[in-house]
Amino acid sequence: MALLELDNVSVNYGAIQAIRSLSMTVEEGEVVTLIGANGAGKTTTLRAVSRLLKVREGRIVFRGQDLTRLAPDAVVRLGIAQSPEGRQVLARQSVQDNLELGAYLRGDRREVVEDLRRMYERFPRLGERRHQLAGTLSGGEQQMLAIARALMSRPKLLLLDEPSLGLAPIIVLEIFTIIRELADQGVTILLVEQNAKLAMNHSARTYVLEAGSITFSGPSARLVNDERVLHAYLGG
Ligand code: ATP
Repeated sequence: MALLELDNVSVNYGAIQAIRSLSMTVEEGEVVTLIGANGAGKTTTLRAVSRLLKVREGRIVFRGQDLTRLAPDAVVRLGIAQSPEGRQVLARQSVQDNLELGAYLRGDRREVVEDLRRMYERFPRLGERRHQLAGTLSGGEQQMLAIARALMSRPKLLLLDEPSLGLAPIIVLEIFTIIRELADQGVTILLVEQNAKLAMNHSARTYVLEAGSITFSGPSARLVNDERVLHAYLGG
C-alpha cells in the first residue's frame, strides 16, 4: 500500500479546472518530484493533499485512510506537513515561535522541547538566531525555517513547495543537501520544484504535470534525459 495515493483527483477554481483526474502515489521513504510549467497545477495538487482546497472529484488516501473530506488540522494530525511556496514564515515572530507553531497540535511538551533542540542542531543558523524575528532572516534561512517548522509536527510525509524559489544558486544547493539528508533519514517527501533537473537528481521518481494532467511519470533517472519532459516543464 502506498503511503499517499491520489486517485483521479480534480480541483476547480470556480469554472477553471486546475487539476483533472490526477492519479499518483508516494511510497513510504520515497522522494517524489512533481514538475511542470507555471500554472500546470503543482501548488494546487499539494494544497489539495493538505486539504486547503476542496477536492471536486476523486479520492486522496493516506496510510489507508481517506482524507478527501477532512479538515486541514486533521491532516496534520495524521502526519502530513507542508512547507508552503514563498515560505510564509511569521515575520514578526521569533524563529523559536515559528518553530513552536509547527508543533501547535502536539501535546507532548517535553518532546517538543527536545525536537526544538534537535532542530537547532540540524540547522545551526536557526539556533544562533532563535530569538531574532523571522522577518530579519535571509531568504535561505527563512526557507530552512519553513522546512524546520513543518518538521516540528513530526510528519510522516513532508510536502515541499518550491523550496529553491528566489534563492541564490549556492543556497539552493544547501537546501537540496538538507532534502537529501532528510531523505537519508527516511522522511518521505513530495517535492514541487521549478528547478526540475536538480529536483529529479534528488528523487527516485518524477511526475510531470501539464495543464492539470500527468503526462509523464517514471524513475527520475530516466525522465531527466527525456527531451519531451524537458519540453513539458519549460512550458512547451
Ligand atoms: P506556479 O509554478 O506558477 O506556482 P503551479 O503549477 O503551482 O504554478 P497552480 O498554482 O497550481 O500552478 O495553478 C494551476 C492553475 O490554476 C493555473 O491555471 C492558475 O492560473 C489557476 N489558479 C491558481 N490559483 C487560483 C486561484 N486562486 N483562483 C483562480 N485560478 C487559480
